[in-house]
Amino acid sequence: MRKPKIVVLGAGYGGMITTVRLQKMFSVSEADITLVNNNSYHYQTTWLHENAAGTLHHDKTRLNIKDVIDTSKVQFIQDTVVDIKPAEKRVILHNSELEYDYLVVGLGFESETFGIKGLKEHAFSIANINGARQIRDHIEYMFSLYPIEKRDELLTVVVGGAGFTGIEFVAELANRVPELVEEYDLPREKVRIVCVEAAPTALPGFDPELVEYAVKHLEKKGVEFRIGTAIKEATEDGIIVAKGDDVEEIKSETVVWAAGVRGNSLVEQSGFEAMRGRIKVDEYMRAPGHDDVFIVGDSALIINPENDRPYPPTAQIAIQEGYNVAHNIAVTVRGKGELEKFSFDNKGTVCSLGHDDGIGVVFGKKVFGWKASVMKKVIDNRYLFLLGGPLLVLKKGKLKFF
Ligand SMILES: Cc1cc2nc3c(=O)[nH]c(=O)nc-3n(C[C@H](O)[C@H](O)[C@H](O)COP(=O)(O)OP(=O)(O)OC[C@H]3O[C@@H](n4cnc5c(N)ncnc54)[C@H](O)[C@@H]3O)c2cc1C
Repeated sequence: MRKPKIVVLGAGYGGMITTVRLQKMFSVSEADITLVNNNSYHYQTTWLHENAAGTLHHDKTRLNIKDVIDTSKVQFIQDTVVDIKPAEKRVILHNSELEYDYLVVGLGFESETFGIKGLKEHAFSIANINGARQIRDHIEYMFSLYPIEKRDELLTVVVGGAGFTGIEFVAELANRVPELVEEYDLPREKVRIVCVEAAPTALPGFDPELVEYAVKHLEKKGVEFRIGTAIKEATEDGIIVAKGDDVEEIKSETVVWAAGVRGNSLVEQSGFEAMRGRIKVDEYMRAPGHDDVFIVGDSALIINPENDRPYPPTAQIAIQEGYNVAHNIAVTVRGKGELEKFSFDNKGTVCSLGHDDGIGVVFGKKVFGWKASVMKKVIDNRYLFLLGGPLLVLKKGKLKFF
C-alpha cells in the first residue's frame, strides 16, 4: 500500500511542534513526513527583540533544524514555498514541487504597515533573524557615525508601537544604551529612544497596573513615550506623527515598526479563504472545505468564544495547535480514534522589560519585576524542552535566571 505523504510548511513554533509530534507518532513504514522551511534553522521569534537590540546573539535564538528533527523519519527540504495548490494537492517550491496527501500550513507572520506611507521603504521590522540582525548592525553603525558627523538623528531610535513587541524591544535597547555609549564615545543625553503608540495607552489590553509599572520603569531608563500619537508617514529623514491637530516631525536614522503583524500573504495568494493571511479554521484546525489541509500558528485564525474576537497570534497558541494538528493527522491517516477539537488553554502572558524585569499575568495572577522575568525564562525553556528534551534546554536554554 502507498504510504501517505504528510508535508509540513514552515518550521516556526507550530510547524516544528507538529513535526516532532508526527515523528513520534508514526513509524517510517506508516507515513512519509516532509518538513519545508526557507532557512536551515528554526528560530524563536519571541527572542528576536533581544537580537535586534543586540543584547543576545542571534545564534542563541536559532537552532539547526536537522539537530532537532529525526532525519531518519523526517525529510527536511530547505526551500521557499511559492504557491500551494490545494485542488491538485501540490506545493510549488522555488526549486521543486511536492505532492501531498495531508498538508500542514505553518508559514507564520509578516509585518503589516496598514498602508502608512513610507513605512515599507524607510522602517525596519523585527520579523525574522535577518531583520533583527540588520537592526542591530544599523544602530551600531549609526552610533559609530555620530562622533564624526555629530547629527542628532543618528542617535535617535523611533519605535512604532507600544504593544508587546515594541515594549520588549525598547526595554532591551534601553538596557544596551550604556554599553553603546561607552563603545562609541557618545554623549548619553543625546541618545533618544522614542516609542510612538496610536492607542490611548501603552500595551493595549494589558492590566492598567502592569502598564503603569512598565511605562514608569522604561521612562526611568530614558524611553520617551508618545501615546495617543499616530505615525502618519515615514520619510528618509524620520517620521511624521500627529496627535489630534498637532503634527510633528521626529528626525531619526532608525525607525523600527513594531505595531502590526498579519499572516503570511502566500496563504491568500494560494486561494484559501483568509483574513489578512489567517485562515479561519474549523474545530479540528482544518482549512474550510479542505479536510486534508491543517493550519497552525499565525496562519490560523480561531475565534475566542468568550469575547467573539480572534485569539491574538502567539507562540503559546501555535505550540498547542501543533499538538492538536499532529493528533488529528494521525487519527485521519489511520482511520481510527477520535479527532480532537482544538481548545486554547491560556496559561497567561509575560512581557519582558529587559533580562531582569517584566510584567505579566500567569495562571490568572499578576506578576512584576524579577518574578516575571524568571517566569519568562521558564516559559522559553519549557518550549525548548517540548521540542528537544532536556539536552536542548541545556544547549540553548536561558539558564541564567538573575
Ligand atoms: C519580537 C516578538 C516577540 C514576541 N513575543 C511573544 C511572546 O513573548 N509570547 C508569545 O506567545 N508570542 C510572542 N510573539 C508572537 C509569536 O512569535 C508568533 O505568534 C509565533 O512566532 C508564530 O509562530 P508560527 O508557528 O506561526 O510561525 P513563525 O514562528 O512565524 O515561523 C514561520 C516559519 O515559516 C518560515 N517561512 C515563512 N515563509 C516561508 C516560505 N514562503 N517558504 C518556506 N518557509 C517559510 C519562516 O522562516 C519561519 O521559520 C512575539 C513575536 C515577535 C515578533
